[in-house]
Amino acid sequence: MDNRIPVVAANWKMNKTISEGKLFVEILNNKILYKPEVDIILCASYPLLFQMNLLLDSGNIQLGAQNMHWELSGPFTGEVSPLMLKSCGVQWVILGHSERRHLFHETDETIMKKVISALKSGIKPIFCVGEKIDERKSGRTEEVLERQLSGLLETINEVELNRFIFAYEPVWAIGTGENATPSQVKITHRFIRERISRRIPECLEKLRIIYGGSVNLDNAKELIEIEGVDGFLIGGASLEVESFEKIINIVKENE
Ligand code: PEP
Repeated sequence: MDNRIPVVAANWKMNKTISEGKLFVEILNNKILYKPEVDIILCASYPLLFQMNLLLDSGNIQLGAQNMHWELSGPFTGEVSPLMLKSCGVQWVILGHSERRHLFHETDETIMKKVISALKSGIKPIFCVGEKIDERKSGRTEEVLERQLSGLLETINEVELNRFIFAYEPVWAIGTGENATPSQVKITHRFIRERISRRIPECLEKLRIIYGGSVNLDNAKELIEIEGVDGFLIGGASLEVESFEKIINIVKENE
């Protein structure tokens, strides 16, 4: 690992009630009593955010949302704005997650609107990119990532880019129990880092790129040792506080 602070982010997806979320935070808070050398981010569903923020006042654990609308307010029934997230203490938002892209038909264009709005509102994006299985098998991974990054690279400057975390999440590895191989992860992270720093060379060393896709206690050590992997975005294995904390420790020990 270079001198980038590693990240362990939980994506709870549509899981946990308010009381379950609070219990998780209480247990994790007791384990993380010091300022950790790892950025720990819990991305919870909307109804949990306000309550969780009240418990996260030590600042050792940060709060993230899983989505947002790009408008600040207005007639968008069922949507949540960045202003609302800010008022719940949210610092991060996952944007471009494959479940949003593929199940809810979000496009590169709408994701970019969200990115710009998040930055304007002071919320930092966890920006996800990743290819589907047929795209990998037909050798189109880099082409897909290039497309997913292109809007961003046309729009974003260095200062803004420093506020991002990028997540490489191969769609075929999410929730399947089949993680990408170390060599696939290494090559793809290198591609993303080089592609972004071709546009903004100052970012080469600073950019944090995390891996997501079936990370668990058994594969976390092997994956965090890969050059260019700055941490994880974790779905399934983040739901149990014990396994999540063990993965944080694995990442910390790799420092
Ligand atoms: C995710 O949803 O971002 C994810 C990586 O899920 P899982 O860890 O369950 O594959």
